[in-house]
Amino acid sequence: MNKQGLLNNSTVDPNKILPMRYLWARQHYKNGVANNWTPEEISMQKDIEQWKSNKVLSETERHMILWNLGFFSTAESLTANNLVLAVYRHVTNPECRQYLLRQAYEEAVHTDTFIYCCDSLGLDPDEIFNMYETIPTIKAKDDFVVKLTTSLFDPTFETNTLENIQKFLHDLVGYYVIMEGIFFYAGFAMMLALRRQGKMTGIGEQFEYIMRDESIHLAFGCDLINTIKAENPEIWTQAFQDELVGLIKQAAILEKQYAFDACPQGVLGINAEQFCNYVEYIVDRRLERIDLPKQYGKENPFPWMSQATDLNKEKNFFETRVTEYQTAGSLDWE
Ligand code: FE
Ligand code: MN
Repeated sequence: MNKQGLLNNSTVDPNKILPMRYLWARQHYKNGVANNWTPEEISMQKDIEQWKSNKVLSETERHMILWNLGFFSTAESLTANNLVLAVYRHVTNPECRQYLLRQAYEEAVHTDTFIYCCDSLGLDPDEIFNMYETIPTIKAKDDFVVKLTTSLFDPTFETNTLENIQKFLHDLVGYYVIMEGIFFYAGFAMMLALRRQGKMTGIGEQFEYIMRDESIHLAFGCDLINTIKAENPEIWTQAFQDELVGLIKQAAILEKQYAFDACPQGVLGINAEQFCNYVEYIVDRRLERIDLPKQYGKENPFPWMSQATDLNKEKNFFETRVTEYQTAGSLDWE
């Protein structure tokens, strides 16, 4: 077993961050800091007026907004709890832990965003924050990632065998690749499409900031996965790869079902089928990031999604860092 690795099967002192071994973890930390934001910086005044008016939003659009608020309001807490209660204990490398602390804070900011949205629009918090129990397509997504990760919540679980390192990878694939990398993206596309029509632009801007944070979380997660693979090559068997591809394909089905449910007739000139193509396009990108074969071969139907992260406040940051950064790890602003 690797003695200088990321996981707690190594002999690394978790309190001694310098000298650093994984510079990509440091770079993700800095990228996160450069995208610092809070939801209260973004005015909800126009959103409140549009939400209260019966002339601006169609019933379909309202349904789609509620479904996305419902999904994200609890998905952020699920992710945060997994980070703190499952991932943090096993990733003992100090610069990776420094990033995990930053990410946990960002998940708190995201949860705060949905508190702020509920408060300012006057939504029923019980309805929104219960949707992960009451709406089957939301529940299916959450249950799927939770099921992938249950063994890690056993207090005696350690990453000291090949089988357990594979189980740990299930957790990382479940939360970083599937939850943050796939299950968030139909919702991002819907809310940013709405914003492009000048509707609910405050929430749209908040979703855009969240999406930037999430692209960094995803990039960190993929570097974590790829490093664990490199340090423990015996775990990366063909059978294990096939299993992960199977899980990710199941996740794609769940995300497409969610997209249909959140906007059954399509909205904003976009039909549900385009959202499905987008999901398949995103899934291929995620597979490639962790060296698994792509499955769908779809074109990106929403090229504006990849530009969304270049706009606004941190324009210079994103323009100047991306190239320099790519030598240290992988980055995907989508
Ligand atoms: Fe988040
Ligand atoms: Mn996240």
